[in-house]
Amino acid sequence: MTIGVWILGDQLWIEQAALQSCQDKVPVIMIESLHHVQERPYHRQKLVLVWSAMRHFAEELREFGYPVTYKLAEDFETPLQEWVKENQITELRVMTPNDKPFTQMIEKFASLHCKITLIPNNHFLWSVEEFTTWAKRRKRLIMEDFYREGRRRFQILMEGDKPVGGQWNFDKQNRQPPKGKLNTPSTKWFEPDEITQDVIVHVKSLSFPLYGDVEPFRWGVTRSQALQILDWFIKNRLPEFGPYQDAMVTGEETMWHSMLSPYLNIGLLQPLEVIQAAEKAYHQNQLSLNSIEGFIRQVMGWREYMHGIYHFVSADYPEKNWFNHTQPLPEFFWTGETKMNCLHQVLTQLLRTGYAHHIQRLMVLSNFALIAGLSPQAVENWFHAMFIDAYDWVMQTNVIGMGLFADGGILASKPYAASGNYVNKMSDYCKGCVYNPKERVGKNACPFNFFYWDFLDRHRSQLQFQGRMSFILGHLERMSQEELEIIRQQARDWHVQRLG
Ligand SMILES: Cc1cc2nc3c(=O)[nH]c(=O)nc-3n(C[C@H](O)[C@H](O)[C@H](O)COP(=O)(O)OP(=O)(O)OC[C@H]3O[C@@H](n4cnc5c(N)ncnc54)[C@H](O)[C@@H]3O)c2cc1C
Ligand code: SF4
Repeated sequence: MTIGVWILGDQLWIEQAALQSCQDKVPVIMIESLHHVQERPYHRQKLVLVWSAMRHFAEELREFGYPVTYKLAEDFETPLQEWVKENQITELRVMTPNDKPFTQMIEKFASLHCKITLIPNNHFLWSVEEFTTWAKRRKRLIMEDFYREGRRRFQILMEGDKPVGGQWNFDKQNRQPPKGKLNTPSTKWFEPDEITQDVIVHVKSLSFPLYGDVEPFRWGVTRSQALQILDWFIKNRLPEFGPYQDAMVTGEETMWHSMLSPYLNIGLLQPLEVIQAAEKAYHQNQLSLNSIEGFIRQVMGWREYMHGIYHFVSADYPEKNWFNHTQPLPEFFWTGETKMNCLHQVLTQLLRTGYAHHIQRLMVLSNFALIAGLSPQAVENWFHAMFIDAYDWVMQTNVIGMGLFADGGILASKPYAASGNYVNKMSDYCKGCVYNPKERVGKNACPFNFFYWDFLDRHRSQLQFQGRMSFILGHLERMSQEELEIIRQQARDWHVQRLG
């Protein structure tokens, strides 16, 4: 019997489960498929990141003594078929992909003439089975409950069975608006090496639709670089991670955020090592608990929870559309050319880097898509295309669930909908905008305002059963019919005229 391992582009860890399942240095194959990256458009830097990281990882495996075949091909199945035949592979092992469509594709391979074994994925703290066991015991799938269970299970920031500091959650200290001059730490980037430069040339030569600037490409592409980013984050950003977690400032693209998701999502970093590094720094350097807990909550809570939910929900989850929103995606989402300064800033940053931080994603991009009634599937497709860290498992839950509430509240307790008031409070974007965040109607009115009230009005019968919405629906009830009619008209006109 000859075993061979196929390593996918988001499984770049020497201890990944399929490699670990083999006792010897078995033949390994890695494939860049052109067909796969044409199934939807991608950000150019995403392609450079994944392909360069794959090529670097192939080199590392060779140094470890693995015979690695690396193919640039049209599809996956043809090179696999040839390799299986040439190496007389009788069993192909693949670590179960994170993304369900990829697993389904592998299960349909008919031409390989060898046994295909999917080895359970070990890139998350909670396996799919463990999350399912947790979820089945629950009436509601609340992230906070899951996160606490994780803290207990992995003994992170715990004193016996109690949370360190006597409290599980320090969010109240972590929502500060950006007032005055903030001394944001500089960002750590890397110069592309020869392998990355080759990939950049290759990506530039591709003739199918892609988005975003390919250069300057400054992301890390190896585990060693990912570890440097982690170390740099722990030293320079983690101590102050909490207070301005939700703040947005023009020209400050990453603030105190870790920028670790691109590396975590392709296996260059593992969640437990990231969490433990943060916890160790807390104990060694007596850092503020609100920052440490705030960060650990993201990785141990939100990230694991989103992955677990993705595998737990029904197969029709990607098609969910609770509000029945059908407006098409405005063209400016692809170009950044809009007079709305908040969207302009975030979208142009995205085109430059492939990155936006959580509140830019949630409270600017998806908030606008939600209140303007854009089709959830069009929005999900766009997010997937534009972000350097986008994968099906993290996109479905974050966009369909958290961002757009298109799942009707499976994972969020209320829609993350907000008017221009929120953006004005949490950013400096409104200062440079032609619109006025304080006006609801009229030529200068901030579109976030009329869309917000129009959204509440359109969906008041659905929203009245969301307990946390009753306060704001009370405001809507008190609004005059006259003003409400102008708001409705202005929202309708915006779509008809395709304003930006
Ligand atoms: C509409 C929308 C789309 C998103 N799309 C993606 C995506 O394509 N890929 C992605 O990895 N994350 C996505 N997120 C989650 C989150 O915004 C990003 O993980 C985070 O902004 C990445 O930047 P960072 O590494 O600097 O994060 P930090 O703010 O430093 O947070 C630390 C880590 O926590 C994890 N994390 C925090 N929140 C989440 C979450 N909701 N889901 C999953 N992981 C989380 C990430 O691994 C992140 O690296 C999305 C969120 C929203 C609301
Ligand atoms: S005024 Fe409205 S559109 Fe302009 S930046 Fe502020 S929230 Fe965005």
